[in-house]
Amino acid sequence: MKALEKSKPEEGLWMVEAPVPEIGPEDVLIRVKRTGICGTDIHIWNWDDWASATVPVPMITGHEFAGEIVELGRNVDGLTIGQRCSGEGHLVTHDSRQSRAGKFHLDPGTRGIGVNEQGAFAEYLRLPAFNVVPLPDEIPDEIGAILDPLGNAVHTALSFDLLGEDVLITGAGPIGIMAAAVARHAGARNVVITDVNPDRLDLAAHVVPSVRTVDVSREDLHDIIPELGMSQGFDVGLEMSGNQNALDQMIDALVMGGKIALLGIPPGTSPVDWSSIVFKAITIKGVYGREMFETWYKMIAMLQNGLDVSRVITHRFPAAQFHEGFTAMKSGRSGKVVLDW
Ligand code: NAD
Ligand code: ZN
Repeated sequence: MKALEKSKPEEGLWMVEAPVPEIGPEDVLIRVKRTGICGTDIHIWNWDDWASATVPVPMITGHEFAGEIVELGRNVDGLTIGQRCSGEGHLVTHDSRQSRAGKFHLDPGTRGIGVNEQGAFAEYLRLPAFNVVPLPDEIPDEIGAILDPLGNAVHTALSFDLLGEDVLITGAGPIGIMAAAVARHAGARNVVITDVNPDRLDLAAHVVPSVRTVDVSREDLHDIIPELGMSQGFDVGLEMSGNQNALDQMIDALVMGGKIALLGIPPGTSPVDWSSIVFKAITIKGVYGREMFETWYKMIAMLQNGLDVSRVITHRFPAAQFHEGFTAMKSGRSGKVVLDW
């Protein structure tokens, strides 16, 4: 099969001929149709410090996918050949305290496809049946291929009650933009999204027209608060940039007793104004991945009930043109980039 692989410990990815994966009794084999390119894949392409310390070579990359089941392991039931599906790319153990409590997303033994295990940038993917998420007919493959990052947005956005609340999202990358759509869908009153990249803010306004975009290199959040009829500030913050200044601004613009869900990953360690967090009595929650499988359930239900994130996909390429796909992602001007296998 064709597969996009980190074949050597250096910058780049290579399209190779790889054997079709053999499945075990609890696995399924998926014919991959569409995949999304993630920031993680860019780290692996660039072979930065994180990637070279984490990813063994050779490794088929990619973890955002949709496809169709073509083979079932002998112990698998409840799934059928021909079933369209996406799937959770975090592979968990079932014997940790967290897993036995049903909190699979907190399993310390989690391994990621396309990072620690052979991934989805390929014609075929082996996946434990446990991780398969069937796709309803009304969700097309290209949306199926971005359910992993939409799930990050949903998991973060639904961390706190948003109904009637004023929500600040820092970082208008694909995940921040999708979180804005989710916050709207979940009944937030005002949704404000910040960035320092005007292309990203234009995309946010295109995907979620009712959101207020703020270029924090030109505008001050303090001016936005009265403009939108808020008196104190934002009730909930969703940090989706990984940028220290964005977190500082968020803490500053939150109400007393405000809540923050942190998805963005800052590079290395960074100073935090803890006294503001204490005096404002702010609650902070770190968010990793998606809840298995409540996030998947909620996001599919929302997509069936009018949530529309389709315009966040800005580029589509045949898998053979992966170079163009990665160039678009690295430009900082794209939303989601989807490859067709
Ligand atoms: P992205 O890099 O495409 O988007 C981040 C955005 O933040 C960019 O548009 C950037 O211009 C913007 N930004 C930079 N400085 C800013 C500032 N001062 N104020 C406001 N915005 C600023 O990333 P993405 O793919 O949308 O992912 C969002 C974040 O979530 C990233 O940090 C990513 O590493 C992280 N992430 C975490 C998980 C997890 O499980 N915790 C999973 C996926 C992604
Ligand atoms: Zn991803």
